Amino acid sequence: MKAQPPASHFIDGDYVEDTAGTAFDSIYPATGEVIARLHAATPAIVDRAIAAAKRAQGEWAAMSPTARGRILKRAADIMRTRNRELSELETLDTGKPIQETIVADPTSGADAFEFFGGVAAAALNGDYIPLGGDFAFTKRVPLGVCVGIGAWNYPQQIACWKGAPALIAGNAMVFKPSENTPLGALKIAEILFEAGLPKGLYNVIQGDRSTGPLLVNHKDVAKVSLTGSVETGRKVAGAAASQLKHVTMELGGKSPLIVFDDADLESAIGGAMLGNFYSTGQVCSNGTRVFVQKGIKDRFLSRLKERTEKIIIGDPMIEETQLGPMISRAQLDKVFAYIEKGKAEGATLLTGGGIPNDVSAEGTYIQPTVFADVTDEMTIAREEIFGPVMCVLDFDHEDEVIERANGTEFGLSAGVFTSDLTRAHRVADRLEAGTLWINTYNLAPVEVPFGGSKQSGFGRENSLAALNHYTELKSVYVAMSPVQSPY
Ligand code: NAD
Repeated sequence: MKAQPPASHFIDGDYVEDTAGTAFDSIYPATGEVIARLHAATPAIVDRAIAAAKRAQGEWAAMSPTARGRILKRAADIMRTRNRELSELETLDTGKPIQETIVADPTSGADAFEFFGGVAAAALNGDYIPLGGDFAFTKRVPLGVCVGIGAWNYPQQIACWKGAPALIAGNAMVFKPSENTPLGALKIAEILFEAGLPKGLYNVIQGDRSTGPLLVNHKDVAKVSLTGSVETGRKVAGAAASQLKHVTMELGGKSPLIVFDDADLESAIGGAMLGNFYSTGQVCSNGTRVFVQKGIKDRFLSRLKERTEKIIIGDPMIEETQLGPMISRAQLDKVFAYIEKGKAEGATLLTGGGIPNDVSAEGTYIQPTVFADVTDEMTIAREEIFGPVMCVLDFDHEDEVIERANGTEFGLSAGVFTSDLTRAHRVADRLEAGTLWINTYNLAPVEVPFGGSKQSGFGRENSLAALNHYTELKSVYVAMSPVQSPY
């Protein structure tokens, strides 16, 4: 299987190669096959991408939002028409099953282009401020050249979630995908230009943690939006802050999902499984600490085990496959190390914990895993694992579970399952998280702001809120009479 792009980078409307950059392989996680060979960006490539973005941005910002929106909506249409091809590429890039990518990846990217393309004409207005004769007005102005840096779990979605609001607001973007998933963003760039985006406005360059700082520290970059781990977030936010650049940080989590005795049991189990096993558990907002009230613990665990053991693991390109491999050998090893820690610290391994049967030996597969009797201080309950490992903890009372759920440095997401409407709202109100779900989990439509609190980050993606993070306000005071000067 090959997915070799014409060149490593996409700059100023064209594919660009620079073989002086460190060569690296793109690997299909299901088989370990090398599907493409690319080169990381050299400083010259970084400069070229940022210069192209800077050159193109002024004219783009001068266009009407409606005209910019028309191009983004066209890109959304192209993405939907080519959904199968893009989904297959996403599967090759990530190893996620086609069953998922066909409904969740290019489609959610297209949603972002459609949403921001559609709302732009009304959402970028300013205010008129009457001052009794004089008046003032505000304008929402673009920031300039924005950098996007992506994680490997949703490469196409991240490329679009950052690109769409940045572009519609009149900015140019230089996007660096994760070194593990370099392919999807190149296709997004191609499609944007096919849709009519002028050259230089959406550039993709490759590289890893040594390339990122070249972008973040570049003098012509006004903003950085990162999707990644808390550790990387601290570095990137620190570097950006020292130069007073704008930042959006979409970081990691260890989110709580609380199931009360009165919840619809099958629905809560379904939510917990989706919130731990989708994308082989590589989802930042996953509800990895599942707090189950003691009255339903036994029934919850027995049905959870039964349903988890039926998950179909295998070749991601087969429509029936529900769980693919992990992104890389390094990530797989990390997850197995956490499983060993869970056992050593006394959690009960309810199911999984090993390598599944009947999968390619070179693939980075792991069984969906559930630990029961997990306690708050165990490592697996405190640290983000980023794999298909669910921790089930039990609790007695509402106040107790809220305090324990909030007892983490993270604050990305949280969920509650209960049939008591008042309790659902009370609990959602008290949980410290950027996104909360009541009686469902992990839905992130473009209309709803998405982002974290505490160490999970700041800024929001999606919704009109994202536009605030890609623009700044300019206030214009207009005098209607001559200046009254005491001098
Ligand atoms: P990572 O932090 O290792 O890497 C993220 C990106 O940052 C990569 O492109 C990487 O090359 C780049 N990078 C690394 N060091 C850098 C530096 N010093 N300067 C600039 N760029 C640098 O994360 P990952 O392993 O790719 O992804 C997994 C993490 O991402 C998890 O913690 C997960 O929770 C988080 N994540 C968050 C969200 C969200 O929306 N909140 C979504 C997906 C993933």
